[in-house]
Amino acid sequence: MGLDIHIHVGAYAVIKAEPIVEQDNILVCSNLECSNGKVQKGKFCTDCGMMLSERTLGRLTRASLYDLLPEDKYCDDLTWAAGEDNLDVILATGNHSDDGTDVGYINAEYGATIKEITADMPARFIAAFNTEYADVLAVLRERATSVEVKFGVLTWWS
Ligand SMILES: [Zn+2]
Repeated sequence: MGLDIHIHVGAYAVIKAEPIVEQDNILVCSNLECSNGKVQKGKFCTDCGMMLSERTLGRLTRASLYDLLPEDKYCDDLTWAAGEDNLDVILATGNHSDDGTDVGYINAEYGATIKEITADMPARFIAAFNTEYADVLAVLRERATSVEVKFGVLTWWS
C-alpha cells in the first residue's frame, strides 16, 4: 500500500456534526470493597482474586462521514476527503464520474500540469454538486448540524 496525495479543485461539502458516543467494554474487579479500580485483563482481579466483570464505558468521538451515512447507497456517493486528519469538520467530495463538480483528476507525479480555472467555475461546480448529490445532501442535512457546499482546493494523503 502506497501513499497517494489527492488534489481536489472544485466543489465539496463541509459537514459539521455532533460527536458520537462509542461504547468500550472493559473488565474491572467485581468486588466493591477492593481498592483495585483499574481496567484489568483475564478472569480474576490481580489484587483480591475476585471475578472481573464487564462494564460498558461511553466515549465521545468525532463522527465520520460513514457514521452519518451508514447506508451503502449514500456512502458510495461521496468520498470522505482528509478523513484521517484531525479536522473538526467532515469534508466530502463527489464520487460520481463526470459529475461536473471539479476540474478532474490531477496527477502531478510525472511533471507539470495545467488546469485553467475560469471565472464561471465556482458557481457552476457548486450548482452541479447541489443537483447531482441532492438526495445525499438532504439526508446529511437531517443528520448533521450543518452542511455547506463550497468551492476550493483540498489536498489530502491516503
Ligand atoms: Zn479486586
